[in-house]
Parts: sequence; structure tokens; C-alpha cells
Amino acid sequence: MAARYWNEAVETMGRPDIEALQLSLLRQAVGRALTTPFYGPRLEAAGISGPSDIRSLADLRRIPFTTKDDLRQAFPFGMLAAERREVVRMHASSGTTGVPTVIYLTAADVERWTDYVARSLVATGADSSDVLQNMMTYGLFTGGLGLHYGAERVGMMVIPAGPGNTARQLKLMKDFGTTTVHATPSFMLHLHSKMAEEGYGLGDLRLKRAFCGAEPYSEDARRKIEALFGIEVFNSYGLSEMNGPGVAFECERRDGMHLWEDGYILEIVDRDSFEPVPDGERGEIVLTILCREAMPLLRYRTKDLSAVCPEPCPCGRTHRRIARITGRTDDMLIINGINVFPSQIEEVIMAMPEVGNNYLILVQKEGALDRLTVKVEVGPSSFADDSRPLNALRDRIRSRLQASISLNPRVELHEPGVLPVSEGKAKRVVDERPKL
Ligand code: AMP
Ligand code: ZN
Repeated sequence: MAARYWNEAVETMGRPDIEALQLSLLRQAVGRALTTPFYGPRLEAAGISGPSDIRSLADLRRIPFTTKDDLRQAFPFGMLAAERREVVRMHASSGTTGVPTVIYLTAADVERWTDYVARSLVATGADSSDVLQNMMTYGLFTGGLGLHYGAERVGMMVIPAGPGNTARQLKLMKDFGTTTVHATPSFMLHLHSKMAEEGYGLGDLRLKRAFCGAEPYSEDARRKIEALFGIEVFNSYGLSEMNGPGVAFECERRDGMHLWEDGYILEIVDRDSFEPVPDGERGEIVLTILCREAMPLLRYRTKDLSAVCPEPCPCGRTHRRIARITGRTDDMLIINGINVFPSQIEEVIMAMPEVGNNYLILVQKEGALDRLTVKVEVGPSSFADDSRPLNALRDRIRSRLQASISLNPRVELHEPGVLPVSEGKAKRVVDERPKL
């Protein structure tokens, strides 16, 4: 089938042109970054005091990495490079200790992001005849609105369903002839497991494809979803720091995700030495966003592990592909698509004087979905005959956790000494989920 493009000139640019464009955009990004309280002193210290100090793309490596912790330190406006009045949107994702990491966009930034998403969707074969049901969360999370705008740009009819509620999702799919969905892979499996029970069969649906991302999943999980629904599943990679969806997306070949190199500079570095690794070798993805006016982000360490696919893609797009993400270098958990750091849970628990010193975070599968249980030890006095105070404490822990991590965990209270105590470094997280 002939490849179809959203913007053929950009998507099929030759390597020298991509690199020339990257260099000129990087200079602009550095120029903007220098105006911010966070990057100004940092870049100066690295000997970069103006765009002209970036003479070639190799000079990128003179710029220090940026981390999630830096974003947290710069909260709320330390990386803002535009006037407040120019900003039209913000999004946020979880920080490591409850301080969210925030990104800002001007109207032109939203335009560009929309364009990356639009070209990603067209690369999968989607067009204006499609009905897209967006089952990702709308709100501070970027998955909902980000993909929504791009799909509208393509002219798809968008059903902004949001996540959860399988009965309603299936009814919408049937009533409106949904051809395409955007969901986490685990939600797709969950949806399928509920179909018969909710009274639907594949014959009721007109589904052709799904865009799946927001959490790691294997090639086997992809094939399973494809077989269960009789559809094509396209891997979609993005992170809120880099706008959200539309950073890298699979084309019709479904063999690695094209990373839009007119928008981002991709580096893959060794997870320990931070030196670049050769194409095909796994390492941590480091990204520089090239044209976000409101908030430059240079050499951002994503903590996601992947590799460059060395072969050119037969679809004709020249932007390099990255392989499926195989994991992260930090302890961030992704639970039903929501990012949670164990430190966020610890912070809530340790702020409650009734709670003892030991706790355990347990992540399991319940059906196709993830289930989070937090086990905490409470003081011996809490275990009196009257169980009411204990129930109240459990509810209080649960609601504080929910407020902090946007998930509703199961909370178990235990008497002191019941939870395992490990010698050496405490093992606070037990993740029993089979690899998706
Ligand atoms: P957020 O900032 O909330 O959008 O979360 C972004 C994180 O979700 C990334 O850094 C990855 O760890 C994870 N993620 C997003 N898309 C994928 C994908 N297709 N495969 C694996 N992990 C993903
Ligand atoms: Zn391709």
C-alpha cells in the first residue's frame, strides 16, 4: 500500500536536512533557555552564553542533562521562557515527591504538538472517515487532550470518552461505529474480558485499530490484543515533559516508532556512563524538545529504556525509529497508566503519626487491570476491641493516598512486626504483575 503522509516534505526529509534543521532549532531553543532562571546560569556555567556557542550538533553534548528532579526544583515557573500572557495551556504529571512537574505551552506550541499527533495518526492509516474513541484521561494528563487535538486536526470524529466504565465504552463503540481507539494496553485487555458479560460481540463493533501506550507492554501483548479484537495495534510513545503523545509513533509497518526529529533531538545513552550507545543498542532515551516557546527542555533524561532501529523504514519516513520501551531506570511504577513513585506513598504514610515504620507496596493484576495495595503497620494501641477507629484510620490513609497519587489503593492495616523486615536496603515494593 502506498504510504500516505500528513506532511510529506517534513516526514521524508533527508538526513543532512534534518540535521541542519535541528541545528538551527537547537540554537533558538538554547537562546530561549538562556532567558530562564533555571537554564540561564546552568548554560553559562557550561560556557554557553548565546545561540552562537552552539556551532554544531555535537555541541549538544556540552549541555548538562535535565532531570525530573530539576523540573521539580524549577517548580512552578523556573523554566518558563515566555510571558505568562502568552501561555495558553499547562499540563502536569507526577513528580518524585508529590511536587508535580509542569509544562507550559503557547498557542504556537499547541499547534506544533497537534501537528506531530496528526502526522502520527495519518502514518497509521487513519483518516477523516474514522471515528476515534479516546479512552485516555482528559485533564492534567496529556494523553486525553493531546491526542484529541491531533485527531480533530486529521478530521476524525472524536468521542472524548475518557477512561474506565467498560459498559459505557462498549455502548459508545457500538452506537457510533468507533473504528479507532486510544487506550492503555491493559485497558484493551480488560475491555475484551468484559465484552461477553456486557452483552457485546465482535460483530457489534467496527473497530479497526488501537493506539496503545502510556505503559510498557510486550510484542506478545500487542499480538494478543490484535487477535482478540481482530484489529491492528500501534505503539505510541510520549511523555508529558515532551508535550505528551506524538513524540514517537508506529507507522503502518508496526515495527518501531518514528520519533519526529524536526521536533525532538534523540539521544540514547548508556544507563550508567551516560555516553551515547551505537544504534541498535539499548540505553536511556534522552530528548531535547526543539521548538517549545513557552518551556524549553534540553537533554531531558526520560529514564525510559529503548534502542534506535538501525534500518531505514520501508514506509519512506526518514525520522528514525525507536524500539518498544522495555522498562525504566528508576523505580517509577505505572499503575493502570498512572505514574506513581514509591516516595509519594511513603510521604503520605510517614506524615501520619498513627502509622508505624514499616509498610509495603504491593502491585498485582486483578483480571486485566492493575491493583495497588498498601500495607501499613500501625501502633499496638490501635488494635483495641473497638474496630471503629481502625476503620477510620484506614479510610483516612486511603483518601490521603488517593489525593496524592490519583489512584484508589486498597489499604491494609497490620500489627507491628507483621510485615517482612529486610536486612539492608528495605524492599518496599513488591510488583507481582506478569510482564504485559
Ligand atoms: P506521562 O508523563 O504521565 O505521560 O508518562 C510518561 C511515561 O509513560 C514515559 O516516560 C514512559 O515511561 C511511559 N510510556 C509512555 N508511552 C509508553 C509506551 N508506548 N511504552 C512504554 N512506556 C510508555
Ligand atoms: Zn515507517
